[in-house]
Amino acid sequence: MRLRFLGTGAAEGYPVLFCGCEDCETARARGGPSIRRRAALLVDDALLIDFGPDIGEAARAMRLPLHRVEHLLITHAHGRFG
Ligand SMILES: [Zn+2]
Repeated sequence: MRLRFLGTGAAEGYPVLFCGCEDCETARARGGPSIRRRAALLVDDALLIDFGPDIGEAARAMRLPLHRVEHLLITHAHGRFG
């Protein structure tokens, strides 16, 4: 089984856009792997778990074959429904 993490920064990514805490400032200064896209996981190129707004950027940067995705699993929603 091949797992590829497209993002591990929860729902808002990291560093947080409007946050000035020491951790977020350090991540901005370091860049690279300190910058985390919003959470998503690709399993065996066929199952995509969660589909946030950073998917396009992740797919291009990681050269992912998203045309092979057969199933999309949304674990939960953010927002107000119902
Ligand atoms: Zn912060």
